[in-house]
Amino acid sequence: MYDIIIIGAGPAGSNLARLVSKKKKVLLVDRRNFRNMSSYNEKLCGGLLAPDAQLMFAKLNLSLPNNVLVNPQIFAVKTIDLNSNIERYYQRFYLNIDRFKFDSWMFEMIPDNIDKMLDTVFINCEKKSDRVIVKLRTQNKETELETKLLVGADGANSVVRKSAYNNHKWPKQYLSIQEVYESKKILPYYIAIFDNNITDFYSWVIPKENTISIGAALDKVDAKEKFELLKMRLSSKGFDFSNLVSRKGTFINRATRNNEIYYGEDNILLIGEASGLISPSSAEGISYALYSSSILSNCINDNQNDDVGRVYKNKMSKMNLKMTLKHIKSPFMFNKNLRKIAMKSSFMSIKGL
Ligand SMILES: Cc1cc2nc3c(=O)[nH]c(=O)nc-3n(C[C@H](O)[C@H](O)[C@H](O)COP(=O)(O)OP(=O)(O)OC[C@H]3O[C@@H](n4cnc5c(N)ncnc54)[C@H](O)[C@@H]3O)c2cc1C
Repeated sequence: MYDIIIIGAGPAGSNLARLVSKKKKVLLVDRRNFRNMSSYNEKLCGGLLAPDAQLMFAKLNLSLPNNVLVNPQIFAVKTIDLNSNIERYYQRFYLNIDRFKFDSWMFEMIPDNIDKMLDTVFINCEKKSDRVIVKLRTQNKETELETKLLVGADGANSVVRKSAYNNHKWPKQYLSIQEVYESKKILPYYIAIFDNNITDFYSWVIPKENTISIGAALDKVDAKEKFELLKMRLSSKGFDFSNLVSRKGTFINRATRNNEIYYGEDNILLIGEASGLISPSSAEGISYALYSSSILSNCINDNQNDDVGRVYKNKMSKMNLKMTLKHIKSPFMFNKNLRKIAMKSSFMSIKGL
């Protein structure tokens, strides 16, 4: 019998496991094992740590180890609008990271008193009075465990959310595809590409050591075709896609309204991207994972008798304003006419010396 079972050891789950009181009996479950860098172990990600995530680290009194960073550190985004053929550069303050090393570092900070089950998949859950029965599978062996509180930190395609709250409105789900290619040239910026014929979200090229990652968040219906179209358009701009290193796909959420973000209730709660939290404009999600897990850890540690779910939900309501502001900003990036006006004006863009 556990006090808390956390499903998912991404930034949200690892941060919660790290912060929750030592008085609690906690189990952290992940289908990954963090043993080595492999497609199985690596979360598909652009690997850019945004200022909001850096602020979260400052608030959590954490500094980032050097080995998590990768070359080059970049100070600008080149924005290409393929609909209007306008290109602009803007100043940016991201840190370029290796996502596997980042997740492993967060995982290693979890204290030893937390039980861990790796290579273990969450299958489903069932509420029984004030307990939750959690079904897990390790290799071919199924286990049922009981917990007072179940936390879904299992990302965009959360099985905890599906199992407990499938009827609650979900955010729009995109399929993101990312391919990594060898590159002789080191880009001094990352690239954000907008083209409404490819996606109503956006595509990117990010330099990492001697490679470039090209990715896009796409409609699930014709994702593969649209990704090929993107590559074709970038090839005509001089990109060389001949030496493929890896290819991966995963889901990414994009809440179009605040009611698609759901933190759960009673004794099954959701944090990070499982709740739908991620920037609908930039797809930055690490700061939201750190924020929601930190807030939940405070609620668990401070509220011995209260309904933790209710307190957590109330505290997270502060996010509504932030998300509303993101929704207001979105049309200027994703509506092709408004974007054209914004980019043509050169507002906030960097001008060469
Ligand atoms: C293509 C792409 C690019 C992105 N780029 C950036 C970026 O540059 N910067 C940024 O800040 N954000 C980026 N994001 C968003 C960011 O990756 C997520 O928002 C963030 O990882 C969410 O953290 P999380 O801990 O909630 O979930 P995740 O990091 O997704 O972690 C979920 C964990 O749950 C585990 N899990 C899932 N299902 C199960 C199961 N059934 N049983 C057991 N374990 C399970 C997974 O193995 C994983 O460890 C990107 C996302 C995508 C898809």
